[in-house]
Amino acid sequence: MSRELIYQGKAKDLYTNPEDEDLIVTVYKDQATMLNGARKEILAGKGALNNQISSLIFEKLNAAGIRTHFIKQLSKTEQLNKKVAILPLEVVLRNVAAGSFSKRFGIEEGLVLKRPIVEFYYKNDELDDPFINDEHVMFLNIADGNDIAFLKEETRRINNLLKKWFDQIGLQLIDFKLEFGRDADGNIILADEFSPDNCRLWDAAGNHLDKDVFRRNLGSLTAVYEEVLERLQGLV
Ligand code: UDP
Repeated sequence: MSRELIYQGKAKDLYTNPEDEDLIVTVYKDQATMLNGARKEILAGKGALNNQISSLIFEKLNAAGIRTHFIKQLSKTEQLNKKVAILPLEVVLRNVAAGSFSKRFGIEEGLVLKRPIVEFYYKNDELDDPFINDEHVMFLNIADGNDIAFLKEETRRINNLLKKWFDQIGLQLIDFKLEFGRDADGNIILADEFSPDNCRLWDAAGNHLDKDVFRRNLGSLTAVYEEVLERLQGLV
């Protein structure tokens, strides 16, 4: 029996895992996209870098007691994950104002938020992932009140861990996006990836070591992702 394609995404493809149907194989691709796929580029090595960065972070999250879909890295570009039903939600946490938050509120990028802010976006390409609140999440039958409270608390818990690890390697975690899914037992667990594609990382000099390098044409994306991976590999 061979693997069958389940889902083709912008940055990753998902395949069945014939040896165990509760698991899937995720293959990271070399494609960078923005504006909902309107701009696309192939960047050699990006898939391997994101897979390695995300695998390293998810291993550490698992070890810290966060329930995630991550089982193990299979190769440079592939990992083994638990099969989940992804909630159509982008859960964004912000430590520092940047990007759409700065635009929406007319606040300069770089303002440190006194308390990190959790936001929800409805994952829907046709609607351009609109910004929604708790009541919209319930109206859309994505999650109930208890689930929403869990998603917010878990995201803050993950932030505390990530902020500490990035701080140890001289990077400030500005903001990030998470996705959660329900496993076979109905538990909500962390899924998708954690890489510089879906977070913002600034070094002490204010350089961007994340996808803003691509979005804002600041230089070589893979060179900065390589640097993030090397720094993370030095974490004890
Ligand atoms: N983000 C993401 N996918 C999206 C939108 C945002 O991974 O479809 C991440 C983004 O990389 C950043 C955080 O979520 O780390 C907040 O993004 P923001 O709302 O500021 O949007 P942007 O300015 O990136 O359009």
